[in-house]
Amino acid sequence: MNLSLFPQFSGFLMAAHVLIVDSISANRILLKVKLASAFAHVEQAASAGEALDLLHAETPDLLVLGGDLVDMPAIELCGLIKENPAFSHLPILLVHTDGTRADRIEALRAGADDAFEMSVSTDALLARIRSIMRVRNSYEELRLRERAGRIPGLAEAVKGFDSPAQVLIAALNAPEGDQWTTHLKQMVPYGLRHQKVAEIMRDMSQFTAPDAIVISLQVARPEEALRLLAEVRARAATRQAAVLVVLDEANDTARINALDLGANDVIVEGFDAEEAALRLDSMIARKRMTDRLRKRVEDGLTAAVTDPLTGLFNRRYAIPHLSKMAQRANSQRGDFAVMLADLDHFKGVNDQYGHAAGDIVLSEIARRMRRCLSQADLIARMGGEEFLVVVQTSDAHSAAQVAQRLCDAVGSEPVYIRGRDIQIPVTISIGVAMGSDMLEAKGIAANSHCATSQDGLASALLDRADKALYGAKAEGRNTVTLSVTAA
Ligand code: GH3
Ligand code: MG
Ligand code: MG
Repeated sequence: MNLSLFPQFSGFLMAAHVLIVDSISANRILLKVKLASAFAHVEQAASAGEALDLLHAETPDLLVLGGDLVDMPAIELCGLIKENPAFSHLPILLVHTDGTRADRIEALRAGADDAFEMSVSTDALLARIRSIMRVRNSYEELRLRERAGRIPGLAEAVKGFDSPAQVLIAALNAPEGDQWTTHLKQMVPYGLRHQKVAEIMRDMSQFTAPDAIVISLQVARPEEALRLLAEVRARAATRQAAVLVVLDEANDTARINALDLGANDVIVEGFDAEEAALRLDSMIARKRMTDRLRKRVEDGLTAAVTDPLTGLFNRRYAIPHLSKMAQRANSQRGDFAVMLADLDHFKGVNDQYGHAAGDIVLSEIARRMRRCLSQADLIARMGGEEFLVVVQTSDAHSAAQVAQRLCDAVGSEPVYIRGRDIQIPVTISIGVAMGSDMLEAKGIAANSHCATSQDGLASALLDRADKALYGAKAEGRNTVTLSVTAA
């Protein structure tokens, strides 16, 4: 047994709380001894009834069910808990005193995360618990972030039908891949394909990540399979895939190494299609739940920095982004232009055509400006009918050309309001300030990385662009004005 390979995993799990349920006190003590090093808080229940009371009082991080309960078969208690939405996320391990393959299959079918023999080594048991906790912790972490940033209505927006899960079998050789695929196909609704481990390593940078990967590991020669596993976990594209490792024979070291390198689950005594199907089902269900949650968090983050009317970034995003662009241009000694653009006589548009028509004008103008700019440029709606544009340019002259292109694009043709058949002419005025002018004026060293000086720089630049915008309005609108130093 070589846990020292993974020193980061050899310490105790976390301030976690485990509940051990068994009616035989000797079994509870045995389990407690195995788990005490990993859990800060070990609780015991002598019956299903007592366990349920404790669960309702405080949900543990893990439930370990012994096979001998006086008031209810352990399998039934497991099913009961998993069916309750309040506890369906709670990981459950079943421990049999003298279990058979059929017992293990029955436990998995009842929703247990895994089933063990009482004789399992402490190290193997703890490695499996760590793999369960990893998945659970990243789910909980996402859940906290999602709650913190929850935006009403967003959760509903991302519901939909999932496409069938894709499973990749990483086999030792083609006949093994064929055989596993044929057997699994009869038991799972997933898209299955197989490839040799060595070929997957070669093609990994190109393929679209499957939902799950089944890796065949020969205990006598585990290196290649373990390398693939490490690679799957290291790459951003495959990191979220669920991984099931299949050992060709029982071996504690291989089992522990696979789990600690990031396998979600391990089959220890050779490929068994029924067992693989059950384990894949629960791994994939968890992964999809986590994927949905992650998408919700990402959508929430996007929504927080996006203006819903125009789809442009909002002010909250624009200001720190401007500071960052200032810093980058500064350290690379390049120049950049900050532009404030404001629609002309927009109040008149609202007054004459109504607020709804005004909204359509705003989003059409945003689209016209966006089209003039490259991906690297920033355009944001700062509020009302005012937009911020930041572009990397060589000098004030080319910045003025970009600004003039924006003016022309906005004023090129009136905005057509479908349904009401009206044309609304619009123009925009733009004030431009150059990053380099500001650096000189403020005497900020060109290699300064000081965050506060960058923030100060950003707001001073906005100020200058705003003054230039005033100038453009005074000059009769529909025009570009450079700030004094830029000119
Ligand atoms: P100027 O040429 O000097 O900029 O004149 P203006 O009328 O555009 O400027 P003013 O600041 O007086 O008016 C801006 C108007 O923009 C007032 C406000 O009703 C309108 N507005 C701001 N946000 C929105 C919006 O989201 N939708 C609509 N329809 N109108 C908006
Ligand atoms: Mg205006
Ligand atoms: Mg305005």
